[in-house]
Amino acid sequence: MPSTIASTSTQPTQPQPNQPPALPEIPPGYLNVMGYVDNSEVNGPGVRAVLWVQGCGRHCPGCFNSHSWPFEINQLVSVDEVVRQVLREPRNQGITFSGGEPFKQAVVLAQVAKQLKAQGLTVMSFTGFTLEQLRSRQAPVGSQDLLDQLDILIDGPYVASQAIHSPNSPVSSSNQRVHVFNPALQHQIDWASDAVEIHILQDGQRIITGYRGHMAFSESEDESGMAFQSERGSHSATAPA
Ligand code: SF4
Repeated sequence: MPSTIASTSTQPTQPQPNQPPALPEIPPGYLNVMGYVDNSEVNGPGVRAVLWVQGCGRHCPGCFNSHSWPFEINQLVSVDEVVRQVLREPRNQGITFSGGEPFKQAVVLAQVAKQLKAQGLTVMSFTGFTLEQLRSRQAPVGSQDLLDQLDILIDGPYVASQAIHSPNSPVSSSNQRVHVFNPALQHQIDWASDAVEIHILQDGQRIITGYRGHMAFSESEDESGMAFQSERGSHSATAPA
């Protein structure tokens, strides 16, 4: 699977037949982001910021975030900018990384996680990989660094044939597993994967999130306009199955 981290090679390379197109470079210390909200209560324990990264090569049938699949640059956001935004909202008790595939940007997400944990916040991530794959030699660059920072990992891709429609399930399909690395959160696995929230941003845009890790703008087909901005309010509800 292609990496989203910029190559440091200086050797000119000859394009090979059937070679996938070169991916755009992400500057060091930056993330390619699909979306962001503060104060989510349906993407992990407590009240959390949620950061959806851009890019996933897995293309699971039934994926609710297909706009996150392309690895092309959507919005570049620095580590400092993410950390500042999360800490600006006092209700955020932690951050959840979703996607897209967070572990394709593990190096920089680990930097974000480290700074937020130093401020007492918790860090959770979704991934299409299994934990065993992330601990193997084939894992994306920086996977262990990110794993070292996580309080909770939800692993495995969404598998439509194993979909769970339950107000009591924190995962969307039965192959996915909840790994709680921080014992303090052991009894806080209480969010429902089929609940939704509507976040109304200051510019009037609405972000709908929660249902199976879904993130979408309700006002526009153009999803490239996500901005790090405060919201006017949010509303939670349980989605119809
Ligand atoms: S369900 Fe997750 S792993 Fe699968 S394509 Fe969507 S974002 Fe990628």
